[in-house]
Amino acid sequence: MSDAADRGVGGAPPRPISLVRADGAYLVDDRGRRYLDIGATHGAGSLGAANPEVARALADQARDLIYLGTGYSNPVRTAFVERLLGLLPPSFGRVFLSNSGTEAVEAGIKFARSSTGRPKVVAAMRGFHGRTLGALSATWRPELRAPFEPLVPGFVHVPFNDPAALEAAVDETTALVLLEPVQGEGGVHVATPEYLRAARAVTEARGALLAFDEVQTGIARTGRLFAFQRSGVVPDLLLLAKSLAGGVPIGATVTTDEVARRFRGSHHSTFGGNPLACAAGLAALDFTVRERLAERAERLGAVAFDRLRALPPDRVREVRGLGLLLGIELRERVLPVLAELESRGFLAISAGATVLRLLPPLTVPEAAWADALSAVVEVVSRGG
Ligand SMILES: *Cc1c(COP(=O)(O)O)cnc(C)c1O
Repeated sequence: MSDAADRGVGGAPPRPISLVRADGAYLVDDRGRRYLDIGATHGAGSLGAANPEVARALADQARDLIYLGTGYSNPVRTAFVERLLGLLPPSFGRVFLSNSGTEAVEAGIKFARSSTGRPKVVAAMRGFHGRTLGALSATWRPELRAPFEPLVPGFVHVPFNDPAALEAAVDETTALVLLEPVQGEGGVHVATPEYLRAARAVTEARGALLAFDEVQTGIARTGRLFAFQRSGVVPDLLLLAKSLAGGVPIGATVTTDEVARRFRGSHHSTFGGNPLACAAGLAALDFTVRERLAERAERLGAVAFDRLRALPPDRVREVRGLGLLLGIELRERVLPVLAELESRGFLAISAGATVLRLLPPLTVPEAAWADALSAVVEVVSRGG
């Protein structure tokens, strides 16, 4: 299907299969062929792309109240916010709800600038934070930025996992240090615990805020409910989206009472915190905790590392990742590998030109996951 036939604008044309429904971790096309999702839902399908409990919550909520402005309180929104905060350390007391990851980041940048009264934002090379102009200013990849310049002033990028470079960049004008605990789009690069601890120490020492963009790593993906829990480094702002509401559009900027108290100005979203998304979010959090998806991600991630050891070093530079966020850096381009996997019934994605990214639903059956890993080993070993 060409870009024109899809009537899209702005991106690559979709691949020539038309997917009409999900069945657990599988996606089904318009001719009834089943594909295992090992990345097709881009991290938003962690609970499966049609989770029955999320679907039921949506249907029930839609009968009662689809939309309400944020000027009124609503028990579903309150319950969702309380449920989310109940899963986080007590330093987090406030939540701003929006509709996407990029909006969660935008709000974080605005809260940080306003509450510190400082302009500078320090982000990392290879980082990805979204595509609206503020979030894009924090995103690193030059080809994503260049056509839209000038971007928002005051953003700098430092090498990832380099504590000295970070310490040199953070000064008394710095509002925010913005990092992903695992860089997803940028090629699946895992932050070391020492790096995250250094980020916490330097922001504290210089009066800046620390934000973790867990849009992709959050909600059990990396083997913990939130990736920051691995290092024990608690940020001032936690940015969530993707699977937070089981695939329904949502974004959350979670922060401290202190940041909220110092915030000047206003920030608002018409659809942020709408009852449908909150009902889905409540069902998604309940499901994630009850089904112990974080432990599942940890266990199935270990299975993958074990299995992927069979990959030949003449084709693969490195295997990286945490839990069920995995990157296989090839010595060749990844697109032919994706195409071959697709023809075998597995829908994976890339993270840059040479990294095969595996991001299955956390509910993926163990046997299906084993089959997917066998296919990956086979396809990569012989070349795409
Ligand atoms: C996907 C992603 C975003 C952007 O989220 P959207 O919902 O596409 O706007 C931001 N940050 C990270 C780390 C992401 O993976």
